[in-house]
Amino acid sequence: MYAFIIFVSVFFSFFQIKADEVNLFTTRHYESDIKLFDKFTNKSGIKVNIITGKSKPLEKRILEEGKDCNADLLFLADAGRLVSAEKKGLFQKTESNLLESSIPEQFRNKYWFGLTKRARILYYNPKFTSFDEIINLRYEDLANKKWSKNVAIRQSNNVYNQSLVSYLLEINGEKKTKEWLKGLVENFFRNPQGNDRSQILAVAAGDAKIAVANTYYYALMLSGKKGKEQQNAAKKVKPIFPNQDGRGTHMNISGAGILKYSPNKKNALKLLEFLISEEAQSHLSKNTYEYPMLKNVNVSKLVKKIGIDFKEDTTTNVSVYGTLQKDAFKLMKEAGWN
Ligand code: FE
Repeated sequence: MYAFIIFVSVFFSFFQIKADEVNLFTTRHYESDIKLFDKFTNKSGIKVNIITGKSKPLEKRILEEGKDCNADLLFLADAGRLVSAEKKGLFQKTESNLLESSIPEQFRNKYWFGLTKRARILYYNPKFTSFDEIINLRYEDLANKKWSKNVAIRQSNNVYNQSLVSYLLEINGEKKTKEWLKGLVENFFRNPQGNDRSQILAVAAGDAKIAVANTYYYALMLSGKKGKEQQNAAKKVKPIFPNQDGRGTHMNISGAGILKYSPNKKNALKLLEFLISEEAQSHLSKNTYEYPMLKNVNVSKLVKKIGIDFKEDTTTNVSVYGTLQKDAFKLMKEAGWN
């Protein structure tokens, strides 16, 4: 009898520690993500313990704790960051037919998987710039003298910008990218400052003609969640998807990978696979205004309003944003991009 009780209690304590939880490290700070993980818990019985933070401290903790680190999954924004974590050896290889068949090849590799998409696009104010002037605009055109003192973009230390430049470096090569950077820096309407939303504000106010910002920030402003002032500003500007005549618009992802020493690997995989389900994909798009990885998923009205039928650049694997990030940053600095 005693032996049985001991067996049962050992079995249950084992079960509680090992089988019914997953530890997630994430740089995403959305309330709605917590609701999504609750949905997962209700379905699977697996509790999600969430630690949020910036990527560098989270990565530092994972590295320092090594085998003792109880984190199972690391969820990051931007392919550049995912590759950087991969290079540090934080992830383990993950095999999943479901993930591989659901996520287009350009948005994943063996170590991490893109779970949402975002486009880094341009915005203009029809009051100051006619549609004819911006139709068929390409990223390459941002260096054109026509836009002198009229481009609003944030600083070079921003990972989204580094990914954009890495992407252009991959496509256009070093010589052209250097020239492009020179022209772009000359076109800055001010010394880069502020976040993506403040670039849109500058265009709404007529201080600059073109802003560069990720799609979900524009939707967030339109939603009114950032206040009336930002909502009104966003209503004044219009989005434009660059390079529609050619290879398509530069895409980026938010995604996750299973950590090398994950103690709850099976649960981590279950959570990853849940995040690519139709239910989760729709939840993500409706709440954070990102694009779903899956096609034919219900998205937020605001995402529809920005545009869902644009041409994405499918020719470039997002991993290059990570592999070329250092080179890109160096060129950005050399060009005088603060
Ligand atoms: Fe962001």
